[in-house]
Amino acid sequence: MINYLFQEKNWQSQLNDLITDPFELISLLELSPEQLDHQALLANKQFKLRVPRQFVEKIQIGNPHDPLLLQVLPHHLEMQALQGFSLDPLGERDANALPGILHKYKSRLLLTLTGACAIHCRYCFRRHFPYQENLPKEKDWLPIKKYLLEHPDVNEIILSGGDPLSVSNEKLARWIQHFEELSQIKTLRIHSRLPVVIPQRIDQDFLDILQNTHLKLVMVVHSNHPQELDQAFDDAMSNLIKKNVMLFNQSVLLKGINDNSLILSDLSYRLFHARVLPYYLHVLDKVSGSGHFLISDIHAQKIYQAILKELPGYLVPKLVREIHGELHKTPLNIF
Ligand SMILES: *Cc1c(COP(=O)(O)O)cnc(C)c1O
Ligand code: SF4
Repeated sequence: MINYLFQEKNWQSQLNDLITDPFELISLLELSPEQLDHQALLANKQFKLRVPRQFVEKIQIGNPHDPLLLQVLPHHLEMQALQGFSLDPLGERDANALPGILHKYKSRLLLTLTGACAIHCRYCFRRHFPYQENLPKEKDWLPIKKYLLEHPDVNEIILSGGDPLSVSNEKLARWIQHFEELSQIKTLRIHSRLPVVIPQRIDQDFLDILQNTHLKLVMVVHSNHPQELDQAFDDAMSNLIKKNVMLFNQSVLLKGINDNSLILSDLSYRLFHARVLPYYLHVLDKVSGSGHFLISDIHAQKIYQAILKELPGYLVPKLVREIHGELHKTPLNIF
């Protein structure tokens, strides 16, 4: 019912109408304002609540443990200092060769076009990342091009974020045209949570841009729970498939949200229903403020073993961790 209303609104107006006041969220969901104690409000100051209304519609009213709510509502436990958790667990500040680029893996160069996201996920490892000083502008294309020519092994550009789909279609089109100047670049990959949280982002202008590039196209969406996915998501994926985009999903294994083999199996089947394949299941990056989402490796491996038994091989994501300095994501061994 409500989805029809959202479908009529374009994605920009939805982005301009995010819920950013935690008390508004609590009141819409008929929850007790006591959940927002002093520490939770400090956490909100550190990393502000941001959530599309359409995502909130999928949260169960009156349920403080809802798996979608837990991903977005600031929590007092975020303020506890924990050993082993840091501001930049992946050492991304060191890997920053030029504004906006991260080159950690041989053949793939990651480009951050924006620090903005449609939703603020409390577990995000980028919650403390200094984006503003680090975004590429139009004039930065020339040095990036030079860098790419000096690194001919790079054959794939990954647009990541922030959320790269929070920028305008015009800006995306300009950057894609730049990448097309280089014959070494064969693949464009987009990592985005927007198709999940505001599926209307996959609009006609964006589809036309995809239609007009010769680059191979890959999109990796980000969903952690089957409750996030709906008909509007399916329609967006279907439109991308018509433009020959390969579709994958990545998830983060999160305590209290999806640390359960049945939920993860449901998620895989639900993604497949939209013709998206599970790609990565990440264990948490140990970023300050996310400790209460952590699952022990042994528990993660047990959950993983259970989904191996439940799913066809093509619906099993790879269980991985990112280790500072490694040249690829590292699989967690299963014994
Ligand atoms: C994850 C990641 C990639 C992509 O890795 P794939 O294994 O190809 O998905 C590229 N660059 C950086 C910096 C990454 O963190
Ligand atoms: S970068 Fe991705 S995971 Fe992090 S806050 Fe933005 S949408 Fe969420």
